[in-house]
Amino acid sequence: MKSRNQYAEPFRIKMIEPIRQKDRETRNRLIEAAGYNVFNLKAEDVYIDLLTDSGTSAMSANQWAGMMLGDESYAGCSNFFNLQQTLEEIIGYKYIVPTHQGRAAENILMSMFVQKNQEIPGNMHFDTTEGHIRLRKALPVNLVIDEGLKIESNYPFKGNINLEKLEKKLAESSRDEIPMIIMTVTCNSNGGQPVAMDNIRKASELAKKYQRPLFIDAARFAENCYFIKQRDIAYKDISIRDIAREMFSYADGCTMSSKKDALVNIGGFLAFKNNEEWYEKAVQIQICYEGFRTYGGLAGRDLEALARGLLEGIEEDYLEDRIGQVHYLANLLTKLGVPVIKPTGGHGVFIDAKSYLPHLPQSKLPAQALVVELYREAGIRGVELGTCAFGYVDPQTGNEIQPAQELVRLAIPRRVYSDRHMQLVANAFSSINARKEKIKGLKITYQTEIMRHFTARFSPADS
Ligand SMILES: *Cc1c(COP(=O)(O)O)cnc(C)c1O
Repeated sequence: MKSRNQYAEPFRIKMIEPIRQKDRETRNRLIEAAGYNVFNLKAEDVYIDLLTDSGTSAMSANQWAGMMLGDESYAGCSNFFNLQQTLEEIIGYKYIVPTHQGRAAENILMSMFVQKNQEIPGNMHFDTTEGHIRLRKALPVNLVIDEGLKIESNYPFKGNINLEKLEKKLAESSRDEIPMIIMTVTCNSNGGQPVAMDNIRKASELAKKYQRPLFIDAARFAENCYFIKQRDIAYKDISIRDIAREMFSYADGCTMSSKKDALVNIGGFLAFKNNEEWYEKAVQIQICYEGFRTYGGLAGRDLEALARGLLEGIEEDYLEDRIGQVHYLANLLTKLGVPVIKPTGGHGVFIDAKSYLPHLPQSKLPAQALVVELYREAGIRGVELGTCAFGYVDPQTGNEIQPAQELVRLAIPRRVYSDRHMQLVANAFSSINARKEKIKGLKITYQTEIMRHFTARFSPADS
């Protein structure tokens, strides 16, 4: 990988959106009023917003121009055909079902394939994917390789699926018990870690051998292809487009959240390689929940921005800058002694709060405490992926079950912030470093049964 000062952003700025940092006293007041949950803050009270990379990308002049060409006809709008043609070129799939978001594509796919008591294996499902599987009273099964869960492992493809475990599952089950396999690229849930081409190919061979369809959750497919190019010598001279085409050739279809690698603020789709019967079945469900087959919950202008964004998202200089910026922030933090997950994934920097704040036991929510401290220090908004997001109260015993990892994610929106913003994030950590032993833990004062991290409220824990 080139060092960050060997190239500059492959774009210049045409339009700006002012952001302001509130003073420290105001930030302290606002975070307390928000119940120490950054989801409750107003965005205008945040200075650098690293809550998520989803739907937060800056669109290009080319995309905005495309929006003016939105054909808002109910049926057969020209932008749909442009999207279809673009996707046929990039991923090689024929049948495209637009949806309003990635989770809507998941809803259609799961309605078609998943029934009660079945198991759905994958490398590591995203939380909405899990939600859709569980809604149908089926069981999501994560078979990510062991290295994928080791914070200290430097393995280059920590999103890989464990092929032995997958084969065992498939060999021991019928198609009624395991109806399909899902590979998520990159693997969002363990830090945006990539999946190797070889691993996808072998998973596909197993899928064929045992006659189950394989689907790709493609939200960050372009970032995954870039990692393949960087980390697998066999692909170093292959274009991202050709890598993408090969990767998708191994699956039977995909779901996509366009809010990630397609560089738009809303949208998604479901696509099938060549199975017309599946496509027509999907359209039935699409029409009920999303809209007619050529718009699926999106305006014509959104479809046009999406078609254009897909092409920009696989440009190599864009990906170099994008992944390079994530890497740049991770390096700044590493130099300050902040423990980050290595190798850096595609869409953000993940900090190990357990080892950063060793004086706080997991029950005092060290990751959430660090998220709060970052906001207090500089108005930066990250997100907790630890006990609050993944822990839960065991309904039988009433005990709190804690997840293995206690992480803070700083997700980086695409084409939005400069390296100087990243430097300010590092500066904030430098100040926090000096007083980190004094950071107090938190306790939950309000929570819901599912997805509690979005709405929970906290107060300082008793020391
Ligand atoms: C964001 C995401 C989804 C869900 O997509 P939405 O557009 O947010 O509904 C599904 N899978 C992965 C891997 C994602 O990152």
